[in-house]
Amino acid sequence: MTVTAGSSTTPGTRRPLDLGPAVALASKESGHQIPLAPEFVSPDDFAPLEVVYDFGRVRREDIEAGPRSIWRYKRLLPVPSDIETIPSTDPGCTRLVRADSLARELGVRRLWVKDDTGNPTHSFKDRVVAVALAAAREFGFRVLACPSTGNLANAVAAAAARAGWDSVVLVPSTLERAKVLTTAVYDGTLIAVDGNYDDVNRLATELAAEHEDWAFVNVNVRPYYGEGSKTLGFEVAEQLGWRLPEQIVVPIASGSQLTKVDRAFREFGELGLVEPTPYRVFGAQANGCSPVASAFKAGLDVVQPVRPETIARSLAIGAPADGPYVLDTVRRTGGAIEDVTDQEIVEGIRLLARTEGIFTETAGGVTVATAKKLIESGQLDPDAETVLLITGDGLKTLDAISDHVGPKATVPPTAQAVHEVLGQAGS
Ligand SMILES: *Cc1c(COP(=O)(O)O)cnc(C)c1O
Repeated sequence: MTVTAGSSTTPGTRRPLDLGPAVALASKESGHQIPLAPEFVSPDDFAPLEVVYDFGRVRREDIEAGPRSIWRYKRLLPVPSDIETIPSTDPGCTRLVRADSLARELGVRRLWVKDDTGNPTHSFKDRVVAVALAAAREFGFRVLACPSTGNLANAVAAAAARAGWDSVVLVPSTLERAKVLTTAVYDGTLIAVDGNYDDVNRLATELAAEHEDWAFVNVNVRPYYGEGSKTLGFEVAEQLGWRLPEQIVVPIASGSQLTKVDRAFREFGELGLVEPTPYRVFGAQANGCSPVASAFKAGLDVVQPVRPETIARSLAIGAPADGPYVLDTVRRTGGAIEDVTDQEIVEGIRLLARTEGIFTETAGGVTVATAKKLIESGQLDPDAETVLLITGDGLKTLDAISDHVGPKATVPPTAQAVHEVLGQAGS
């Protein structure tokens, strides 16, 4: 089905808008629909907007015959039908690793790690940005912008470079050096802002209103951006052999990813691509920025903003846009939300590295440490098949571990010196 651009702002073109199966945007509260457009707030009730689809029939074979990237799920995303032919970083199809050794350590039976460090800029943000860019392109944009805590900055700068677009990336001036350099190298416009992420986010919202020709991936095209996170859920289900896990642990920053993994599992069930078996969604936060975990534990429906103070900077969003929807999802599925200390985060990073050979950034440390805590407190069922979402690469947050790991010893180049160190280690 095709939808014409109608009142949407597609400058100078009259050809029909092609966003694949997407047919409208709807208020997350009232369900009131508006035509597809670069809008993120419902004019009806000021609630966030989400994409509405007319999927038709989607078969496993169609997906399996697709490319080895998120575009294999194009029939379930708001992207043009010929998306494979358009320059993109082509993220997705990252490994699902059977984590037996970590499972033994944590005392659970069947554990999997979804290793999203394998994306083009080493975090799951490549997924959301690729979908945002594809939709923004249909709307006629040629500048990609974002406020970011780092991973989004990398993904936006790289995707824009690959598409031949300009990019405008705003980051807190306190960002890790590695994340600054790994954004700047793509040669877009990178601006460091004195303030925390929430200040940068407010500034971006202001700029988005002034620069109608900029697609802010997580502001004016946020409804499309968010849909990219569904591909994490789709991949987990496909990689498990077309079935849903019983439990999944997801890190929370704005909360978008957690709600979209749930949406992915529901869509796969509704389309008959998997058995709609029950699953529980668990959320993970750093306790230096745990507004959603606090609301969950207090039994509240609203999330009180906090001022973040944690080494898990990629999760340091004090006023999470999707907080209330995360609470709904976790409560509806019978999950829980926990938070962990900076020390536990470092231990989580080291535990995953030592047991599975996967080096994750602080956000992954949050996920592993939270899973451990949820198992110890009996909230996560050790007999149920569990997936941990590891969303980013440790090379971007070396500072977090630099005081904790290093060489056993520095020795002269003699065998004897090495034997001495090994002897000590063994004794
Ligand atoms: C952004 C980010 C998240 C969380 O994303 P939200 O959808 O905003 O909750 C998780 N992990 C990493 C590494 C991220 O960069």
